[in-house]
Amino acid sequence: MKQQLSSINTTSPEIKYLSLFASDHRDFLLSPTGAQPNLDISPFQIKISELEDKIVGIYFSANWYPPCQSFTKLLIEVYEQIKEKNGSNFEIVFVSSDEDLNAFNNYYQSYMPWLAIPFSDLETKKALNNKFDVEGIPCLIILQPDGTNIIHDGVELIYRYGVEAYPFTKERLDELLKEEKEKHERQTLSNLLTNHDRDFVLAHSTSNEVSVSSLTGKTIGLYFSAQWCLPSLKFTPKLISIYQKIKQKLTQQQEDFEIIYISSDHDDLEFDTSFNTMPWLALPFRDSTPKDLTKYFDIRGIPSLIILGPDGKTVTKNGRSLINLYEEEAYPFTEARVELLEKQMDEDAKNLPSMELHSGHRHQLTLVSQGNGGGPFICCDCDEQGSGWAYQCIDCGYEVHTKCVKPVVQTSSG
Ligand SMILES: [Zn+2]
Ligand SMILES: [Zn+2]
Repeated sequence: MKQQLSSINTTSPEIKYLSLFASDHRDFLLSPTGAQPNLDISPFQIKISELEDKIVGIYFSANWYPPCQSFTKLLIEVYEQIKEKNGSNFEIVFVSSDEDLNAFNNYYQSYMPWLAIPFSDLETKKALNNKFDVEGIPCLIILQPDGTNIIHDGVELIYRYGVEAYPFTKERLDELLKEEKEKHERQTLSNLLTNHDRDFVLAHSTSNEVSVSSLTGKTIGLYFSAQWCLPSLKFTPKLISIYQKIKQKLTQQQEDFEIIYISSDHDDLEFDTSFNTMPWLALPFRDSTPKDLTKYFDIRGIPSLIILGPDGKTVTKNGRSLINLYEEEAYPFTEARVELLEKQMDEDAKNLPSMELHSGHRHQLTLVSQGNGGGPFICCDCDEQGSGWAYQCIDCGYEVHTKCVKPVVQTSSG
């Protein structure tokens, strides 16, 4: 057990949290500005008791690690905005996993605007890691002054809501969720895809444009992808072939399906190269809408396929994995359709051998299902996402779609 610091050992919960920042020999934190309220402590330090009554974020991070670097950049912006709007009610304490003291000093002193646990205090850093079950970095734990509503996914909240998430109370977060839900309920194709300068999307037709209003009533796939992204380059041809099969099937019916490319390309050339391979529509490259949509649908990685129903509402965000699992059968991607396909898959799986030798792996593979040894995976054969049924070699972490298994024909030699 960590000993409480004598100078801050009162019984209120916030003080208990604050004691986590201290050690037996230290009642201060590093401060980059050197602003000290008390002259009896040396510059660039601040007494831990100064954090009393503040909302405190504990930031576990390492400057050598790219995901931390990009989050730190955002967090600095948000931190400064919060400070500007709400005064000094909020503070962040950095818990460093930097490689050595030099690295820590360079990064921390040159650009982090918040407080830090001294780099050499391994014991306190370890205790904080254990106390909040930190499993990966970047990690931002947010504590209220009264010790209630400990937030463990501060990184996620900052990415999603930025400064809007402040003051990180349960009430505020409920409010944000409600607002978001209402926004999605008001969602239409037109408010997603148009802006005051533009009411069309790009097409390969002679006029090069298709009005968004003409797409109303269709099932629409929003395809987030980019030319520089290898998984996208692999997935696009597959999606093209399935798109064409779905279109072919629908010619007889009163329904229609369209895909719109939402590009994350770096420049016009990349965009043109990419779009020219695609038989569908695209949002113009030089437009703010692709960025807005990426945020709105909380797209974390590409390629990603969001499906909108004929009413313009979101049907599923899992278009990519549904395409991988069910190909053209996935259309129209609705819950009812997926349920039916899942049932069918369970039914089909009954006829699959429980063990299989696959030409791509040297060990025998075992048939697993969701919740029974299986779960979401990346297929080692086609490199695409999978879930539900799979063949697996647990020792090697090797897993493939059932449809990707290429059985080895066993010869009866020996
Ligand atoms: Zn596969
Ligand atoms: Zn194996």
